[in-house]
Amino acid sequence: MQDIFYFGAGPATLPRPVLEKIRREFLNCRGTGLSVIELPHRGEVFSGIRKDAESLLRELMQIPEDYAVLFMHGGATGQFSMLPLNFLGSGRSADYVCTGYWSARAAEEAKRLAGVREIHALHEEDGLSIAPEREWSLDPQATYLHYCDNETVEGIAFPGIPDTPRGSLVCDMTSSVLMRPVEISRFAVLYAGAQKNLGIAGLCVVIIRKEWVDLVNEQVPRLNDYRRCAREQSMVNTPPVFAIYVLQVLLDWVKGQGGVQVMHERSLRRAGILYGVLDSSQLYRNRVVKKFRSRINVPFEIRGKGLQELFLAEAGQNGLHGLRGHRSAGGIRASLYNAMPDAGVERLAEFMRDFEIRHLDRHVSG
Ligand code: PMP
Repeated sequence: MQDIFYFGAGPATLPRPVLEKIRREFLNCRGTGLSVIELPHRGEVFSGIRKDAESLLRELMQIPEDYAVLFMHGGATGQFSMLPLNFLGSGRSADYVCTGYWSARAAEEAKRLAGVREIHALHEEDGLSIAPEREWSLDPQATYLHYCDNETVEGIAFPGIPDTPRGSLVCDMTSSVLMRPVEISRFAVLYAGAQKNLGIAGLCVVIIRKEWVDLVNEQVPRLNDYRRCAREQSMVNTPPVFAIYVLQVLLDWVKGQGGVQVMHERSLRRAGILYGVLDSSQLYRNRVVKKFRSRINVPFEIRGKGLQELFLAEAGQNGLHGLRGHRSAGGIRASLYNAMPDAGVERLAEFMRDFEIRHLDRHVSG
């Protein structure tokens, strides 16, 4: 059987050695004779796993001591409501920079709970781009400024950390975490759902400046309360033990590969291969202005009538799966997270070139 490469945006492919280690340990976790999903969450073995996950993350992301690392339920969407529940209301509001589907979802949820200003920063003329920071009309009183580092649906990303004089930065890094080094001290809160670069769905990793933990509102549901979560080492209730275990195994793999800088270099290389095909093509089209292209989620359209379904079907026959675009956007999308081997992108690039040669006449005549 040929290898299968999975380009889905999330839940995403995991590194093969991580899956194999999980399988090996599944029935006997660390010599206990029990599976990790049976172990007591406050017991020595699972506590060790949780602490290892945290210290690996601290090491890999160089998280300073004055930041807490929380493991919370509810994926990234859970954070969309936890942020306003914890920090907004009673006269406090926030700015939300909207650059695509997920940042808009975050703003929409926050608006249900508090006063929020939306800054529509996605420009659509001459390709998709992000309006420069000087054009954002920010509220000087805003408690925080929320943005999404990499828009998974549109494949548009911030080239760096936005340069804003006002507002403490809160960032959704769900699809880009661990894919390039980040200066944590620039953020008040940084969060990432685990299902792409951190393991499996359901868990959300939150990195929060400790002084912010003390700013939370009084009446926050226990499970959503950052202060309580920090105080109780992410065990306000039974934590998502399997997801935390997978995170630990995955972070160990990232470390073994050489860390975030190595992940970054690989990411640049993979994206270079794919954009190389797109840029030299008459059949495929990516709408994002170069400076804002995501290296992680690469969406494109196929210009010939009826070719998209054929492309997806033929890709599947070549072991290339998960390429259908998000339901709101259509088209094709290839997600290139840390776990995607170079061989996967190379096979996709080769398939795309070959498909173009075979079908370009249909585009030209259609
Ligand atoms: N933010 C971004 C940038 C995402 O890509 C996603 C998931 N695709 C989410 C938030 C939502 O994540 P979850 O499904 O874990 O709530």
